[in-house]
Amino acid sequence: MQIAPFWTLTQQIPTTVVVQEISVLVKDHDSTGGDDWADTSPRAGDPFTRFKVSMIDGTVTGDLTGTGCVTGNGEPGGGVFGADPQPSVRLCLEISPGPGFDSDGDGFSDWEEYRGRDFDGDDVVDMTLPDADPNRRDLYVELDYMAGHKPLDDAVADVEDAFDIAPVSNPNTGATGINLHLLVDEEVPAADELDFDDYSDPGDRPSGAYDDFDDLKSGNPARPCGGGNTGRFLTPADRSSPHCQDILSFKRLKFRYGVFIDELLGGGTISGRAELHERGGNDFVVSLGGWAGFDDVGGRRAAEAGTLMHELGHTLGLAHGGRRDNGTLDEINCKPNYQSVMNYIWQFPRYDAGRPLSYSRLTSTTRR
Ligand SMILES: [Zn+2]
Repeated sequence: MQIAPFWTLTQQIPTTVVVQEISVLVKDHDSTGGDDWADTSPRAGDPFTRFKVSMIDGTVTGDLTGTGCVTGNGEPGGGVFGADPQPSVRLCLEISPGPGFDSDGDGFSDWEEYRGRDFDGDDVVDMTLPDADPNRRDLYVELDYMAGHKPLDDAVADVEDAFDIAPVSNPNTGATGINLHLLVDEEVPAADELDFDDYSDPGDRPSGAYDDFDDLKSGNPARPCGGGNTGRFLTPADRSSPHCQDILSFKRLKFRYGVFIDELLGGGTISGRAELHERGGNDFVVSLGGWAGFDDVGGRRAAEAGTLMHELGHTLGLAHGGRRDNGTLDEINCKPNYQSVMNYIWQFPRYDAGRPLSYSRLTSTTRR
């Protein structure tokens, strides 16, 4: 006989628990002689299925290892059931989330989002993802700044809010919006003008300390981790962590890095620059230091929020005209029908004071 009741049992487990032990006993309801126990353990003298779940990464050990099923031996000879051997029962359980599950499809596993990441398998979390939501896509950006250019809290919040209310729904969970984390971190060495060109050969980089983006990110000479570290990517705690190299590898793949600087090299009043490619990018700068004032673009908060979201958009694969349905970049700027912060017309609330801070909400029936 096969019974597939698909019982669902949900339990909240305190975050102090590292390994949760679970045991399952199947009973056969019997109103006359007391409930009979079924045997779901291959061990002699034990009717219980017993297993453990790592609360760090979801790994299951014990009776359910492998297939997720276990079959009892029926206690030949009686065992704990005395003279009345009980039926052998095959029990199958699905324990969710399993290791590596990524329910919201954002590239972070559910366990990384719930608990963080244990790089060396010692059941100690080495790095956490603050405020991660396993049901919504999380997008992490580290933001550093030069003295005098720390972004306004309100500007940072405005951009996070714009992503929070983005009119997108998660195809797996149905949750709406994007959980953007703009993590304002630390001050970086000052430079009047910073070079953001792409130097594939570090020997091509201009001489002088901390005058190009790579100097800020990795250090000059490059030393991202350990004592005497010279880069500013990662938090100070990350850089002095014994797991710094693992954290660096993780965040280089999963985090974007933006710096609020003074001016770009030769840039004057260029507001920012970012890596742009059909597949996105991960570095950008906001460079509003050369601006005399922000009155004609809606104030400093609006200028910072619009520029931050514009440059971040480039790293998400949006050009000044957005991107076409086939995924290629649309480089045409100032298109009147593309009402987006990617478009220079709407980067700031300059020509349209009520423009939304958005990548594009234009639909066939509404203007915004
Ligand atoms: Zn741009």
